[in-house]
Amino acid sequence: MMFKTHLAVGALSGLVILKFFHPEPAVIFSLLFLFASILPDIDTTKSFIGHKLWPVSSVLSLFVKHRGFLHSIWLPLVSFSFAAYFGYAMIGAAFALGYLVHILADSVTEEGVPLFAPFFMRRVRGFIKTGGTLEYVFLLCVCVMLGVTAASFY
Ligand SMILES: [Zn+2]
Repeated sequence: MMFKTHLAVGALSGLVILKFFHPEPAVIFSLLFLFASILPDIDTTKSFIGHKLWPVSSVLSLFVKHRGFLHSIWLPLVSFSFAAYFGYAMIGAAFALGYLVHILADSVTEEGVPLFAPFFMRRVRGFIKTGGTLEYVFLLCVCVMLGVTAASFY
């Protein structure tokens, strides 16, 4: 999916979590969740975050391919486990959930994601073409839901 779609999906899901689960501290949770929801695309220099953090994405892209290992469930699972073990479960949850939201969004695209790479390379995929008309329709729906959810806070 495009950067703007990931950002919108991240914002919507973050707001829903804030509304129903009241994580604390809310600002740190929200910022980390949103950052994690765009982070997996750091595996390519061509993405928004990969372009912004090009020294990191340049090195990473030598070792992993786009929508490869960094789009599997392992990094969020391991990071949450570490954070929870050291007493920072909320921080770990913000990162892991934001990251998983990104992977989930990419899983409905034609290219899909290898959820269990490198152990099981079969990709979970959908029918939305990245940057295609259907993604823009999806983005519009997410933005409407985002507006409704944001308005429900007042
Ligand atoms: Zn991605």
